[in-house]
Amino acid sequence: MSDTPDAEPITLRDQFGRGIEYLRISVTDRCNFRCVYCMPLEGLPWLPKQDILRYEEIVEVVRQLAPLGLRRLRLTGGEPTIRPQLASLVSMLRAVPGIEDIALSTNGVKLTELAGPLAQAGLDRVNISADSLQPDRVLSIARRDLGFDLIAAAQAATSAGLAPIKINVVVMRGINDDEVRDFAALTLDHPWHVRFIELMPVGDLRELTWDHVVPTHEILARIAELGVLSDDAGPSRGNGPARYYRLPSAAGTIGVITPMTHTYCESCNRVRLTADGRLRTCLFGDHEVSLREAVRSGAPLEPLFRKALAEKPLRHELLQMQVGGLRALSQVGG
Ligand code: SAM
Ligand code: SF4
Repeated sequence: MSDTPDAEPITLRDQFGRGIEYLRISVTDRCNFRCVYCMPLEGLPWLPKQDILRYEEIVEVVRQLAPLGLRRLRLTGGEPTIRPQLASLVSMLRAVPGIEDIALSTNGVKLTELAGPLAQAGLDRVNISADSLQPDRVLSIARRDLGFDLIAAAQAATSAGLAPIKINVVVMRGINDDEVRDFAALTLDHPWHVRFIELMPVGDLRELTWDHVVPTHEILARIAELGVLSDDAGPSRGNGPARYYRLPSAAGTIGVITPMTHTYCESCNRVRLTADGRLRTCLFGDHEVSLREAVRSGAPLEPLFRKALAEKPLRHELLQMQVGGLRALSQVGG
């Protein structure tokens, strides 16, 4: 919830009284990677170009949500940095009154080139996804050889003034779980926030099963071999559903995100805008209302926001669902 004294109060609440202040905006469903847990090698049926919201249309949605209490934005996808002129979207969003925080989720491949222009356009911070520190493994998990180098990407973001820097690692048993300690050790010398995410069996995953899920207590036990973990408040901005810890004298923190063993639904303050203009009120299930026709015809969006929120579910049923029964995160702005 915003603590800025002169900010408009949150008036957009769902049927359970949860105030909505955070929007995740998917700017594209496409990606230059094919991560094993997210996208099939052959890609997905991409959205037709004419269905994708133009930047001006995305900004209009934000402009109409901001007076109702929207404060924080995250650009995501698919891979947001492959959409041309992303910095121009950032600068338009920066100009919307009431928006306090603009973040980006990226696989980091284009950060060395884009961190500077994005920061200049008004981007506040960045989350970089990285599932291995070993080049051959990056290749086998992301299944595209684009020369991704996490350290170079994070350093480019740091030099551009983007902060805090969060690094998201999806832990998969037998695939990269032996690197948990190496990732955690990055926080000893760097002021980065390395977050371990439990694999979610969503989309049409053929290679991964529930056996690949490594529960958080196991991840933390492995990290504790490096030193005693103390509870930590974590980065000052955008903590969301992560719990944070710190190794002794470490410059950065370690976070865990546990969609499989815990849910955060009770305090959920977020909604998602898909690349084709659907407002989704829950990551899972099909709770969504299309804004595209209204935004294109100039109709007011507030009645549609309220309709969507009236149907926001109390919690998702991920644990009850079967592998393959859900869409890939790249299609819903994960
Ligand atoms: N392409 C960007 C990236 O990778 O950061 C943004 C979109 S990606 C869908 C957003 C986040 O979802 C990434 O951190 C990715 O690791 C995570 N993700 C995707 N599929 C997942 C899955 N099946 N289980 C857990 N996390 C997943
Ligand atoms: Fe692309 Fe991100 Fe999905 Fe990987 S997790 S395939 S980088 S959208």
